[in-house]
Amino acid sequence: MNQNNVPNNQSNQGGNKNNRNKGAFGIVTIVLWAILLTLLLGSLFTPQSSDANAVPYSTFRQWVTEDKVASVTMSSSKFTFVLLEDKQAALEQQETAQQRNPLSPFFPPAEVKPKTYTTTPLSIEDEQLIPLLTEHNVEYEYTEESTFWLFFAAQILPYVFLAVSMVLLFRFISNKMGGMGGIGGVGKANAKVYVEKKTGVTFADVAGQDEAKESLEEIIDFLHNPGKYTEIGAKLPKGALLVGSPGTGKTLLAKAVAGEANVPFFSISGSDFVEMFVGVGASRVRDLFKEAAKLAPCIIFIDEIDTIGKSRDNRMGGNDEREQTLNQLLAELDGFDPTKGVIVLAATNRPEVLDKALLRPGRFDRRITVDRPNLSGRLATLQVHTRNIRLAEDVDLKKIAQATAGCVGADLANLVNEAALRAVRHGRQAVNQQDLLTSFEMVIAGAEKKGTVLTEKEKKLIAYHEVGHALVASKQKDDVMPVSKITIVPHVQGTLGYTLHLPEEEKFLMTKEDLYSEIRTLLGGRCAEELVFETKTSGAANDIERATELARKLVAMFGMSDKFGAMGLATVQNQYLDGGYGLTCAQDTAAQVDEEVRKIIEDCHNEARGILEENRADLDAVAAYLLEKETITGQEMMAILHGDDPANADNYGANPQ
Ligand code: ADP
Ligand code: ZN
Repeated sequence: MNQNNVPNNQSNQGGNKNNRNKGAFGIVTIVLWAILLTLLLGSLFTPQSSDANAVPYSTFRQWVTEDKVASVTMSSSKFTFVLLEDKQAALEQQETAQQRNPLSPFFPPAEVKPKTYTTTPLSIEDEQLIPLLTEHNVEYEYTEESTFWLFFAAQILPYVFLAVSMVLLFRFISNKMGGMGGIGGVGKANAKVYVEKKTGVTFADVAGQDEAKESLEEIIDFLHNPGKYTEIGAKLPKGALLVGSPGTGKTLLAKAVAGEANVPFFSISGSDFVEMFVGVGASRVRDLFKEAAKLAPCIIFIDEIDTIGKSRDNRMGGNDEREQTLNQLLAELDGFDPTKGVIVLAATNRPEVLDKALLRPGRFDRRITVDRPNLSGRLATLQVHTRNIRLAEDVDLKKIAQATAGCVGADLANLVNEAALRAVRHGRQAVNQQDLLTSFEMVIAGAEKKGTVLTEKEKKLIAYHEVGHALVASKQKDDVMPVSKITIVPHVQGTLGYTLHLPEEEKFLMTKEDLYSEIRTLLGGRCAEELVFETKTSGAANDIERATELARKLVAMFGMSDKFGAMGLATVQNQYLDGGYGLTCAQDTAAQVDEEVRKIIEDCHNEARGILEENRADLDAVAAYLLEKETITGQEMMAILHGDDPANADNYGANPQ
């Protein structure tokens, strides 16, 4: 799922860049506009200080009393008035102009404006002015000059423009500098927290995993009805840790808990917390819990908690940032009030690296194991995912479940979808059994690689190699069908052919004999090459690597060698991923371990070769059939070994095409 997200993210980033460039252009335009407007408004509205016809107020009053004034226009800050003599003069001028111009009725000359004077009124109200004006027959009127808007336009607006453009500019610059939101806003809610008010997922969507569901049941009940618990004084765990291999449905389970309890679901990945800057992760943790508290009761889901919760005393040297983030997480876990109903679920596939402090009582003290599904779990998962898919009548999900031993829920979900796509590609209305089986191979081994041309000789080599594996496996297990499929059709993932082994159901313990027969099976391919063609091919590289690793584990970890007995020589480093381990012994001992491993490999090799020599006829028969068909099922192989016609074999209910 992660892989799918990568291209999306990239395209998003591309989009952001474009927007930013547009933003830059816009800001430049705004700044230019602001400057222009400032200049314009400034020149328009600055009061003219040198008014040529301004007279003192006293002069104005005197002229009124002397009957010199014809009219006055008053406003709160300025009186504009016209003298009688000027008015007269203007009228006369107008008349003479009209007389001189014969076309005046059609083209009247411009009106001649009389000369005007201005004066500034007293700030003390002149109560006698109006009676005085009336007495001396002066026309007067009052105009409201909108001083507020003038003032605003001339004095305030430019600053507003400037301020806005500054803000935009700063935001643009800080965006460019890596989206940190400026120095003041470091880490402020930048982490990708996904909140779903309603997840819409319920336990019905999670197939199998009954024990996990049972453990989570209590949490749901608590979210529904916290009173019931607090009354007695019971404290519920604040967090639970979901542990299991990738794709087993941990996220799905967490969502289902939120869905069942009908509360919001916050999800964040541990890797989102870890940033380059010290303190960012911690502040994100704080933000996350603050946000969650607002929507309580709710579920916080932290995926990949091992990225922040790694043991602090690990050998790689400290990572300040991660430590701070972890400390903050611990503080939040301790700090929040459990009666509020914020429950933290965390998922990991590497519980052994987690800091002990995280696992202490009151924190993630509940560990819920989410296992790989067994047969019935796989069947249930297939049923859940085929709910909305039209299935043909020949589909037998039970048989698909048998064939997919070792697959996790995500594989099965993928398988069903691939099958549906294949059905569409072939123009069918429903998914049939063959679609499901073919897509199983695609999910496990990658799509068939068309166009790789193998020579006849190569094909033969590969066929014998693969049958070698299968035969050694079946002969060691009392004729039990050991493989589900053998193919010599090249698949994308680099293998030329492969044999799909069926892991035994419900087997938790491996005996020493099991391990030895596994090693022999792995070496069976190489033995067949040697026996039939007297040669060795590079195709066995992966087999050899795996066989050697098993032998090494047998000696160093399982304490099964004669030489060292039950002495542990290595420790597991990550159990749920690839089961890696590290040797913890002296160099001398390590050399002896190598010697033991070599002996085991040699013994197993000889024994595998012995098995093939004994069953040479079967080897030839199955290899010939495989060469003809290119892909055969375990059931067909067993038919040959039993001397039946492989064409009648029951191939998981699919009709061979
Ligand atoms: P994880 O978080 O353990 O890596 P997810 O919860 O993301 O795995 O699972 C990925 C997908 O696999 C889910 O979206 C779901 O479609 C499918 N899946 C996994 N387990 C189950 C299950 N038990 N029942 C139904 N679907 C499952
Ligand atoms: Zn092989």
